[in-house]
Amino acid sequence: SSGVLDEAALRRRAARVIPGGMYGHLNAKLLPPGYPQFYERAQGCRLWDVDGREYLDFMCSWGPIIVGHQHPAVEEAARRQAALGDCMNGPSARLVELAERLVGLLPHADWAVFQKNGTDATTTAVTMARAGTRKRKIVLAKGAYHGAVPWCSPSLAGVTVEDRAHLIYFRYNDVESLEAAVREAGDDLAAILVSAFRHDMGQPQELPTAAFARTARALCDRKGAALILDEVRAGFRLSMQGSWEALGVRPDLSAWSKAIANGYALAAVTGNEAFRQAAQEVYVTGSFWMGGVAMAAALATLDVLENNHAVRHFEQVGQRLRDGLARQAQRHGLAIRQSGPAQLPSVLFEDDPDYAKGAYFAAEAIKHGVYLHHKHNMFLSLAHTVQDIDLALQVTDHACARLAAHL
Ligand code: PMP
Repeated sequence: SSGVLDEAALRRRAARVIPGGMYGHLNAKLLPPGYPQFYERAQGCRLWDVDGREYLDFMCSWGPIIVGHQHPAVEEAARRQAALGDCMNGPSARLVELAERLVGLLPHADWAVFQKNGTDATTTAVTMARAGTRKRKIVLAKGAYHGAVPWCSPSLAGVTVEDRAHLIYFRYNDVESLEAAVREAGDDLAAILVSAFRHDMGQPQELPTAAFARTARALCDRKGAALILDEVRAGFRLSMQGSWEALGVRPDLSAWSKAIANGYALAAVTGNEAFRQAAQEVYVTGSFWMGGVAMAAALATLDVLENNHAVRHFEQVGQRLRDGLARQAQRHGLAIRQSGPAQLPSVLFEDDPDYAKGAYFAAEAIKHGVYLHHKHNMFLSLAHTVQDIDLALQVTDHACARLAAHL
């Protein structure tokens, strides 16, 4: 395309006015060659870039899209609220409705407060834990992603040692290292902060073992500390009741964002009675946090998820993708590792320390309109049908053949 809004022209213009041409996790420079940076529109499980190329999407905007782009019920709820008012001198009634909804849905929760991004939610939960316990130490898993501010950012640029004071690390699913980290915190433990499952970029995913989850709960109980569950990535994809509910382990505080409003900017911290007072004492707020549109979108998103057995759907389409990829890889003599819950697909190649095999595979897939990620976990939505999975599998079969020939 030669329009003024084409990808090449936008990249040239961005290079002048955006540092590095792009920043953050959506930077296309972090992806294999052939991925677009700029998008024109999205619908269901498909995206179109500014050059008009169509993609079958397995990233769902890195999680937020859970019922499909432009879902009519969500868009209608958002439009109706937007026509009334969004950013006002206080919240709309949607604030109370959504808090009631989450308290009704999540067995651990007696209250909810709302923010915008996942980082707001994890930071708020940590602040509440410290306020509630009057302790300082946060025990968390090495390599786990909890957000993009100095206390937790994966980059140390602009971060001081003081920003990272009072953090003690353990290995996910390693009971002994968790116990050791808690021991190190002594009588100053404010919280154990833990992701719903292990989903570190470029690593095999791991669901928590029951022993690990129960140990985390027991240690917090013994020490009077908060168990904080970071549900930002997993939330509403593993369970509508909370990702650790099936393990019989309830957190004190949970951080939510991404999928809660199907792409509208919203985050939440939910908590139990023990931390209600602390939640009231801390000063957490933002100019846009009470916006009614995102809350209306969240209410509609939760309706759609509940009315469509969403978790079962994600499992079914995720398992179909996983089974198909496993068969193809075997047929083409490729050793792949698929790990973690099927509804958040992770495909890594064995013996691929620099992810070159994964990048080659993904680059072949994007050429044929299937948008995968070569080292981050992927996401599914209610808009992904069995037919979409089978279409994607035709492309991945070709990509496997190309990679096998290349190797
Ligand atoms: N926690 C987890 C587990 C996440 O996956 C993310 C986002 N990838 C965050 C926190 C931060 O969320 P946000 O990017 O919305 O600030």
